[in-house]
Amino acid sequence: MNLPIFIAGAGPSGLTLALELARRNISFEIFDKANGPAPENESRALAFNPRSQTILKASGVTELVCQQGHTIEKIQFCWESRPIKTIAGYPSTRADLRIVSIPQGSVERALITALEKLGIQINWNSEITNFTQTSGDVTADIHKNGKSISMKGRYLIGCDGAHSIVRKQGGYQFSGTSDPQVWELADIVLNTDEFAHMMVADLFPGGANAFIPINDRFGRIIHAGIGKIDNHPMMVHASKTAWKSQFKVSYRMVRQFSRKNTFLCGDAAHIHSPVGGRGMNLGIEDAATLAFLIQQNREKEYSALRLPIANSVLKFTRTQTNQLLSKSQFNHLVKKHILPVALSISPLRNYIQKSILALDTPSPEWL
Ligand SMILES: Cc1cc2nc3c(=O)[nH]c(=O)nc-3n(C[C@H](O)[C@H](O)[C@H](O)COP(=O)(O)OP(=O)(O)OC[C@H]3O[C@@H](n4cnc5c(N)ncnc54)[C@H](O)[C@@H]3O)c2cc1C
Repeated sequence: MNLPIFIAGAGPSGLTLALELARRNISFEIFDKANGPAPENESRALAFNPRSQTILKASGVTELVCQQGHTIEKIQFCWESRPIKTIAGYPSTRADLRIVSIPQGSVERALITALEKLGIQINWNSEITNFTQTSGDVTADIHKNGKSISMKGRYLIGCDGAHSIVRKQGGYQFSGTSDPQVWELADIVLNTDEFAHMMVADLFPGGANAFIPINDRFGRIIHAGIGKIDNHPMMVHASKTAWKSQFKVSYRMVRQFSRKNTFLCGDAAHIHSPVGGRGMNLGIEDAATLAFLIQQNREKEYSALRLPIANSVLKFTRTQTNQLLSKSQFNHLVKKHILPVALSISPLRNYIQKSILALDTPSPEWL
């Protein structure tokens, strides 16, 4: 008898894995300890990049997300809040290479809609609390709607986020570093549509602010430091703060993406800075790759395929974040005089563009 695959977590990674397995008629059960998807009014991950757009096209999710999402088309650089350069056609002049800005909760709902069309239901309020393995199967203990049950499956795939139980109990190492820097973010309602499709990068010595539009008069502001978000330059255009949060950045990843009958996707396997907007997208790519490999009976290749990709994204986001925060005099000069100009010409533009669009990693084999 074919045992089902268990997916722990129904965030962007787990939902993508479920959808890509369902499209291939591979049997699975998906569990999440929460009672539903991420709220749409807390933007969390915002960028739905061209790589994810390509991956989720076949399931119809890309069309749904693009209908609801908002495009970023230009970037304005400021130095100490004064505009110094606006680059149109950012990150790309090509209409098919756009970043779609949309709250993570809306992407999750689009994935759930696609799953429901295939008759798949998610087991909400279902926490995987423990698991044991033999050479050929996994038994998971699940706390579901207040009751404890045990179920036997073929694999347990941890899409259960940064604090993954599958990673912790599966014996994976999760090495790396944590930055002491606290970042603040807020979603704000604007009283102007001047910034409708424009990202704003406000650079200053030792730090940076950013604004990312979510729709014509709504967007995310982000700032490195505590207690400064209310003085963010975009606040002069704000009529309301809809949501606020704080976070610290860590750079950690596993040394292998699979062990015995377990696999990891998304934040369970790697966490890094949000600079570049890669977090959610990388998890979507992990999950879709794993579903393809399982269909091909090539899941043993998963770890070796994903390790270098996660490693290069971690390196890129760390370098970019450190450059934004660097207090060196040389770095001030680069940020003020060189970066805005260099970004309007190749080859630096091509390098940054490729990463932001997630075109710096090999194209999925099945597309
Ligand atoms: C405030 C905030 C802002 C962010 N901003 C950005 C950003 O601007 N750009 C960006 O790229 N990324 C951002 N991120 C990160 C982004 O949200 C993650 O990279 C992305 O959600 C990873 O998706 P995932 O599916 O791998 O994990 P998650 O979205 O964390 O999903 C994990 C799921 O697993 C479930 N779960 C956990 N443990 C169990 C268990 N034992 N049993 C069952 N279910 C379980 C959880 O309930 C959750 O639904 C932000 C995150 C936060 C919290």
